[in-house]
Amino acid sequence: MLYDVVIVGAGSMGMAAGYYLSKAGKKVLLLDAFNPPHEEGSHHGDTRIIRFAYGEGTSYVPFVKRAGELWQALERLVDERLFLQTGVVNIGEPTSSSIQNVKASAQLYDLALDCYSAEEAMNKWPGLALPANLVACFEPTAGVLRVEACIQAYKKLALAAGATLQTNDKVLAIQAGDIVHIQTANTAYQAKQLIVTAGAWATELLATMNITIPVTPTRKTFAWFEADEQLYRDAVFPAYGIELADSFYYGFPSIDGVGLKLGRHDGGEAVDPNEPLRPFDDEDREDLQQFIQQFMPQHGALKYGKTCKYSMTPDEDFIIDFLPNHCNIVIAAGFSGHGFKFSSAVGEVLSELLLDGTSKQDLTPFKLSRFR
Ligand SMILES: Cc1cc2nc3c(=O)[nH]c(=O)nc-3n(C[C@H](O)[C@H](O)[C@H](O)COP(=O)(O)OP(=O)(O)OC[C@H]3O[C@@H](n4cnc5c(N)ncnc54)[C@H](O)[C@@H]3O)c2cc1C
Repeated sequence: MLYDVVIVGAGSMGMAAGYYLSKAGKKVLLLDAFNPPHEEGSHHGDTRIIRFAYGEGTSYVPFVKRAGELWQALERLVDERLFLQTGVVNIGEPTSSSIQNVKASAQLYDLALDCYSAEEAMNKWPGLALPANLVACFEPTAGVLRVEACIQAYKKLALAAGATLQTNDKVLAIQAGDIVHIQTANTAYQAKQLIVTAGAWATELLATMNITIPVTPTRKTFAWFEADEQLYRDAVFPAYGIELADSFYYGFPSIDGVGLKLGRHDGGEAVDPNEPLRPFDDEDREDLQQFIQQFMPQHGALKYGKTCKYSMTPDEDFIIDFLPNHCNIVIAAGFSGHGFKFSSAVGEVLSELLLDGTSKQDLTPFKLSRFR
């Protein structure tokens, strides 16, 4: 069957794009190897941080501000709470690139940001223990997105707008052309335009078109710890990112009494996305435990840990671009462990690219050509 647009990968980015394109009147097919939201890719684990004073660089701020507006619009459309304004505290040495970028982003875009010494931060959040060389920059309007609920919300709206969602049907090969041919295990589909939002599988999928992208699927772990609710519940304790000399940890307050959630952003081993991930093990537990012991010493026992996949680019910036020599194929990949907060705006951008050939957002930093 011929579709206006086929979207390969109906996860964080693809599901949002499916909604915007269906709403615009396109005949859309969303294809996924699993049944999103699911636990095989990059979008499980309840929560994702959204922050606007952006530690990865000031150029992200207009994009994430747009994403914030679209999350609010999504909440209104589905009449559901998807965002929790817990605030987010960015912690690091004052000279670290993330703290410098957070401050520069806030200044340039007039974002609320309160900066504290380690001692002041420990007075404000008594559950926190910080060495004196660190500072804490708190963004009160930032917070937490309910990741699976966000994807469910876009799924509901995309289906209501007329999209077709085909689950448990992995795309095996793509053949480019004026009409794109998409082959799954069960069926062949045709499309006038194609979006590839295949997350950790983007590299292997594009290889079927002889296109190489530098995106490495990477194993990541995260865990929940028992928490003293007086100190760590979301009403009194923020989400956080802590950059140390050789590591970067992030985490969440105890939301609905589930405990403190914690993960490590840097590092992780390259993996084959088709192989089961090595389960959360003693080494993962020890790493997270030594961190939480130092920085949130009044935590309780480890409850459980999980694994997940990042899709890393060499510079940790995203790829959002037309494929070279194919004006009807767009790829959005390589979200490098910080993409979810943008997925509402990425969905909008992908629809703009297919409808208008261009986007209102500046996508220059995300071009594929930067790797050549
Ligand atoms: C532990 C962890 C913590 C994170 N924390 C944050 C955070 O706090 N804030 C933040 O902004 N971001 C965070 N991220 C990053 C964010 O979750 C990801 O950047 C984002 O989910 C990536 O979206 P995606 O659409 O590229 O991938 P996914 O959401 O994984 O979607 C890809 C989809 O493509 C499908 N697919 C793949 N290959 C095929 C195929 N051949 N045929 C059909 N379907 C296919 C998959 O089944 C999947 O559903 C975190 C990620 C992890 C893993």
